[in-house]
Parts: sequence; structure tokens; C-alpha cells
Amino acid sequence: MHREMTVKNHRIPSIWYKQTSNLSAGRTLNPSMIVMHYTTGWNGEGSRDWLMGAAGGTSNKGSSAHVVIDRDGTAWQIAPFDRVAWHAGPSRYGDLQSLNDHAIGIEFVNSGPLSPDGNDQWIDPYGHRRSKDELDAAGGFIQASHPRVGGLVYAWPNYTKAQLDTGHAILKALTDQYPISAIVSHEEIDTRGWKTDPGPAFPMDSFRTLLGDRNPAPRVKSVTASRLNIRKGPGIDYARIDPPGALERNTTVKILSADDDWRLVEVSDGPLNGVRGWVHGAYLG
Ligand SMILES: [Zn+2]
Repeated sequence: MHREMTVKNHRIPSIWYKQTSNLSAGRTLNPSMIVMHYTTGWNGEGSRDWLMGAAGGTSNKGSSAHVVIDRDGTAWQIAPFDRVAWHAGPSRYGDLQSLNDHAIGIEFVNSGPLSPDGNDQWIDPYGHRRSKDELDAAGGFIQASHPRVGGLVYAWPNYTKAQLDTGHAILKALTDQYPISAIVSHEEIDTRGWKTDPGPAFPMDSFRTLLGDRNPAPRVKSVTASRLNIRKGPGIDYARIDPPGALERNTTVKILSADDDWRLVEVSDGPLNGVRGWVHGAYLG
């Protein structure tokens, strides 16, 4: 299903609207970026109400977003696009810091990674056990390792087609309306090295194409050093990803973002295939 959406007075009139209580007072947002998130949950209305704080009948006073998109494609706008919402936390992209002041935040309902229990079942972030059949019924999942989560291979629930279709219609409206120069994951801008959303099951590239020449496709490079340390953040103060903490010469990587001399990469082959981490850009060619 393709739905045309437009922005009027910093709102998308065709979707549900109610304003969150969690917005910076008296601050105008002139959006130049969009940050993609997952909610870390399965219950869309619950996440929406939480991100609305008091206006949603919840006690949350610390986070919000602009739009929440449920598994069935329903979208809820909870902040106008010219107000500063609280979704990016400590963050940086190029020369920009504190991206809440620059970015629209879009939340997709998704639990995030589930850990294997060693018994063919998976444990979600709330400690609930989920069988493969349950996860398949909810849209399936991919399996991928991720150094920010731990040393195991995790289940990452897929995003539904309805959800992604709505997301595309909203992002199209936003990129038509505002001078958006980058669409980024929360993971790649988070300066604490904690965040993993929206994760490896999310098709970031399909959204980045909305920017055309404004945001070229990720570049593919290969490692020129005999061994190149791969770290959890952009600098030598960050721990190496273990094991084995280094990429061998000629390993292929996809560059996702940059911070000074450092590059966030996704490894495309070899023992760390699929892993994301930071490497020094001088050793990529
Ligand atoms: Zn996030």
C-alpha cells in the first residue's frame, strides 16, 4: 500500500495526533536530520503513551519522539516537527552534537535483540521467553551478533512490511518538506556506545535512498593494515570488540558513518561478518 503524506504546519494531518508532555520549552527545531529508533517493546500503544509522558497517562519525564509507528502500520504523531523532542541522548554526527536540537525522531515498534536461552528459545529485553514459532508469527527474525549487546548471536525481529511502508511515506513527506541532509540510526550517533537501534534487521539503506544525492550510499572499503583494531566507539579509549578485536588485511567493510578520523563500519566478510564497530580510517583503502 502506498499512501501519499504531506506536512502542514509541522504536522502530518492524515495521521493521529496528540502532543507529548516531554518537549523542550521555548525551543524551535529546524530539522536537518532524521534519527531512526526502535521502541524496545512489542506494545505500540504502550510505547506511544510512555513517550507522551503525563499526556499519555504515564510517569515518564525523560524521553519522547516525534512519531511512533506500530507493527500494523498505524502511525501516531506526538510532537510537531518544529519542537525539540528527547530521543537522541548524548550524540554526535560530524560537527553536530546533541542531535535532539537538529533531528526528528521516528520510533518503530520492535523489541530489539533477544538472547538465546540455549534451549531453542529466545529471551526478550523484559525477560519473557519467545519460541521460534512465536517470533515467526510476529514477522520473523534474523540472527546476528552485535558487540554492544554481548558475545552471543541474537535474534532481531523483522520490521513488518506495513510498518516500513508507513515509515517510507512519512520519511518521504519529511524529506520533501525539510532540508534533511542525513537519515541515521540511533546506534551510529550515540556517543556512549550503548545504543543498538534500529539494529541489523532494519533496512536503513532503503530509507537513505530518499535523500538522493544528499546522502550517498555507504561506501565499501577494504582493510589495508595487516591487522586493524575494531572498537566499540570512535577512539583508542574504547575497548576492542572481542573476540578477536581486529580485522585482517583485505577484509571488506561498509562505512556507515564517520567521526573525525574514525569510521563506523559493518564488516562484510571474514570471521566478523555482520559485526559493526569503529576503526581508524587511515587503514581503509
Ligand atoms: Zn533510540
